[in-house]
Amino acid sequence: MLHQNIPQTLSPLSPEQSAQMQALMTSLNPVQQAWISGYLAATASVAAGAMPALPAAPVAAAAGKLTVLYGSQTGNAKHVAQDLVDKGKARGLEASLINMADYKPSKLKDEKHLAIVVSTYGEGEPPEPAQKLYDFIGSKKAPRLDGAQIAVLGLGDTSYEFFCQTAIDFEERLVALGATVAVERALLDVDFDDHAPGWIDGAIDVLEPALKADGPPANSNVVPMMPGLVADAPALTAYTKKSPFTAEVSAVQKITGRDSTKDVRHLEISLEGSGLHYQAGDALGVYFENDPAEVDALIEALSLDGDVLVRLGEAEKPLRAALIEDLELTQSYPGFVTAYAAAAEIPALQAFAEDKAALRDYLAERQIYDILREHPKPIAAQALVDALRKQQPRLYSIASSQKEMEDEVHLTLGVVAYDAFDRAHMGGCSGFLGHRVEEGGALRVFVEHNDLFRLPEAADTPIIMIGPGTGIAPFRAFLQDRDADGADGKAWLFFGNPHFTQDFLYQVELQSYLKSGTLSRLDVAFSRDQAEKIYVQDRLREHGAELYAWLEQGAHVYVCGDATRMAKDVHQALLDVIAEHGGHSAEEAEAYLSALRDTRRYQRDVY
Ligand code: NAP
Repeated sequence: MLHQNIPQTLSPLSPEQSAQMQALMTSLNPVQQAWISGYLAATASVAAGAMPALPAAPVAAAAGKLTVLYGSQTGNAKHVAQDLVDKGKARGLEASLINMADYKPSKLKDEKHLAIVVSTYGEGEPPEPAQKLYDFIGSKKAPRLDGAQIAVLGLGDTSYEFFCQTAIDFEERLVALGATVAVERALLDVDFDDHAPGWIDGAIDVLEPALKADGPPANSNVVPMMPGLVADAPALTAYTKKSPFTAEVSAVQKITGRDSTKDVRHLEISLEGSGLHYQAGDALGVYFENDPAEVDALIEALSLDGDVLVRLGEAEKPLRAALIEDLELTQSYPGFVTAYAAAAEIPALQAFAEDKAALRDYLAERQIYDILREHPKPIAAQALVDALRKQQPRLYSIASSQKEMEDEVHLTLGVVAYDAFDRAHMGGCSGFLGHRVEEGGALRVFVEHNDLFRLPEAADTPIIMIGPGTGIAPFRAFLQDRDADGADGKAWLFFGNPHFTQDFLYQVELQSYLKSGTLSRLDVAFSRDQAEKIYVQDRLREHGAELYAWLEQGAHVYVCGDATRMAKDVHQALLDVIAEHGGHSAEEAEAYLSALRDTRRYQRDVY
């Protein structure tokens, strides 16, 4: 221990150095001693090539280190977790960033300082990459975590009933295992960008003393920062969500037939000059503009002046421009109703405060435009702006491979369009991309990487792709990629849509991939071409024996498309196929599919 006398017989120090060190040590408090100890140990291990190794100090395995685990589907939780790590490092802390999908649950018992940043999907479910850890901490295998300090940040969307449920579950389960909440959890809505930095700063303020008191972890090869030094800035990507690239739309083409019930568009966007790179499996983030005609109607209905200046954070701009460019007017959510009801004093809307279920039903059918048109009370322009939330870019699975398309990126876009309340409704971004942006028009975009939806490394590994509707998008990218590589692995695609004649997306291309051998098998389920509905999962069951044989040959399975119904039904069909054709019990089939997921052989991009 540092505060004991330094034994002269073991010390390589001269008597004079020994005395100086003794004097210094007695003047330090325990936190300072721990810091110096870590600093010297780490400096020595960095210089280990030139110096004989010192015996390692008996420090607890993960003491002094902040482990930041993130569970992210669309990248938001990952970016927030990255900010936490970067800011921690800038303050001289050792912090590591780990995707929950890559984290060995058995390591949990060694964590002393743990931050969790996790989003929530659907009906309170964890994102795909968080599932394994989530299941583990709720299982009997979970270890005691007494002495561990935790900080939890949840991301979610208040339009959903089970807002941030996964983050709540994580915290509750970790606490049940003995962990202590060190930082009050934050549950953030889609405008998390405005609130996460404050929580991160506060969390670091709380965690810093305990982390520093614990000293650096054993085997650390990171030299703690000397006070006053500034950490390396995180690597900068040129174009990101916060500073998107202004791209040019080169083509927009409807790819469903004239009589289709669906309006699906193929988009080609030029990334020329951006230096942006994407891989098959990544998504493109897109900012959009609200419909100027809708905005004008709204301004008139509310008797507002479109030219009046309003504040948006630090900036000021005319109300009309803010409504078109910056604010969310399509996706409704409870916070808007509450804020607007209060600002405009509308009893009918204020009453929803007492009945959350009724509010959700009300919101499910209405865009923000509908709510404002139903209750057009004149309020101050600034009060309206303050009630609205900032537009969030939409993410679309990329439908092309850069190996083939170079500076272009392609999307497969389902345009949301329906009539309700005597008004034609259109999706905010899909309406803009499908109907308002013109060829040659500008679009602000960024690439959102998704390492959890990737082709197998080996070009000869078989792949099974299940992508009904616009879920076909990433598989077009996969096929282009494999074609460009001349990959010889088998590839099997399951595609479904209502009608063969109207909705067979990319039919010609797929048939040419079948011809060339890039695609080995194509099974289609046109749901409404016969009296009984037929879905992709029916095709999976029909070809169960062969499907199971592919799995046994090491095939990777991918699912893309609707999360609420399709992905669940396909999951069940896979379980049934594994049980029936592998001769497994239901539990064994579950274990088989979980093992595929854990080894990245079962990947989903569902939304
Ligand atoms: P889609 O709505 O997923 O439809 C594609 C095909 O899947 C259709 O033939 C459809 O049949 C069929 N289908 C319907 N229910 C299914 C199920 N439980 N299992 C398997 N197949 C099923 O395709 P899309 O219009 O291209 O939409 C793609 C995306 O839009 C979805 O991933 C989702 O994000 C969004 N979307 C969501 C919902 C929703 O309520 N959650 C609805 C529409 C679109 P039928 O239509 O003939 O039944």
